[in-house]
Amino acid sequence: MMSPEDMSREQLREGVRELCDRFPNAYWRDLDEKREYPEQFVRAMTESGYLAALIPRQYGGMGLGLADACVILEEVNRSGANANPAHAQMYTMGTILRHGSNKQKSTYLPGIASGELRLQAFGVTEPEAGTDTTSIRTTAVRDGNQYVINGRKIYISRVLQSDLMLLLARTTPLSEVERKSRGLSMFLVDLREAIGNGLTVKPRRVMMNNHTNELLLEDVRVPAENLIGEEGEGFRYVLDGLNAERILIAAECVGDGRFFIDRATRRAKNREVFGRKIGENQGVQFPIARAYANIEAANLMVEKAAALFDADEPCGAEANMAKLLAADASFEAANVALQTFGGYGVDAEYDIERKFRETRLYQVAPISTNLILSYLAEHVLDLPRSF
Ligand SMILES: Cc1cc2nc3c(=O)[nH]c(=O)nc-3n(C[C@H](O)[C@H](O)[C@H](O)COP(=O)(O)OP(=O)(O)OC[C@H]3O[C@@H](n4cnc5c(N)ncnc54)[C@H](O)[C@@H]3O)c2cc1C
Repeated sequence: MMSPEDMSREQLREGVRELCDRFPNAYWRDLDEKREYPEQFVRAMTESGYLAALIPRQYGGMGLGLADACVILEEVNRSGANANPAHAQMYTMGTILRHGSNKQKSTYLPGIASGELRLQAFGVTEPEAGTDTTSIRTTAVRDGNQYVINGRKIYISRVLQSDLMLLLARTTPLSEVERKSRGLSMFLVDLREAIGNGLTVKPRRVMMNNHTNELLLEDVRVPAENLIGEEGEGFRYVLDGLNAERILIAAECVGDGRFFIDRATRRAKNREVFGRKIGENQGVQFPIARAYANIEAANLMVEKAAALFDADEPCGAEANMAKLLAADASFEAANVALQTFGGYGVDAEYDIERKFRETRLYQVAPISTNLILSYLAEHVLDLPRSF
């Protein structure tokens, strides 16, 4: 028998499915071809309240836990859609919720919950500092009641579809800090003011329909009251948000994996070659069955990580393993689906190649697989530090 929690999660799943049915695969295919942002879909997800799932009710959100948010994003991807353009509105606000002042929370969270304000840009990566975050060179220097920010960022997504962006900058020079992770600070940048006033945004065309950009910051002025938390503690705030992001993205990968398995299975049952269904051949069945097993196993780790997160228990190892296993499994399923479809697998009309490109990203961003392995080796298995 289902627990009340499982029942409400099932209802949540149903609701998301119904919303996604209004955005068939052709909608995503068309946007992919034009490299356009899914504005209508993001609006629908906002109006339904789903993107405010993690915002407490007192600020106008749904006040749900991470396990529920996982269900939402998983279902989006399972339908053949891509949650990526919308997911950051769900979790980027976590930095304000956890580390912002009461004034910042009451100023921004209700607007983010209603969708009036979009906070779906998070600026960390730089041309000279991707994986090695503490080497960032963007600086923020205090000038009276403002900070003046200079530097460059790369692959910062959804900047042109956001009102606000969280930005990491160095406030104390590297030479003056005991540890590289100190002296970094987090700022809330109002993009409506900054773009054209020192902030230049150059879109980058990437493999999938992802609206990512290069940023040039030249004397961008941000009010000192937009500093989040304490000056110098920004790296800790970034780390704090990582578990939630990894678990949610792992759930998206599970959704992708289930999409590929559904499609590959259906194709294998229907497609006839040599007068028999291709799915009658074990050479076709077995890779699908193996990919299915790996997706289901990854899902168990996602569920475990989300449950620990919701119980306020340490979940770093599980969040990282969930992301690793789910990203690997979704790409395996993508590859299997593409092979099962034969030539149709690389034909845009069948949506496999689009989803293949979309799910491939998650072995690289927001964290690459090697860095997860290195975390597990060093922090979980206590193996020697390598860098
Ligand atoms: C489409 C897209 C959207 C993105 N959106 C955002 C965003 O919104 N905000 C943001 O801040 N960033 C964003 N990123 C950036 C993303 O987080 C980085 O690309 C990612 O962290 C990897 O950094 P890098 O590209 O500089 O790779 P590098 O740091 O150059 O690493 C290259 C490769 O070397 C490996 N490597 C490096 N060092 C080691 C080591 N010591 N041991 C083993 N392997 C190692 C890495 O695992 C990686 O595979 C986005 C990227 C993409 C592609």
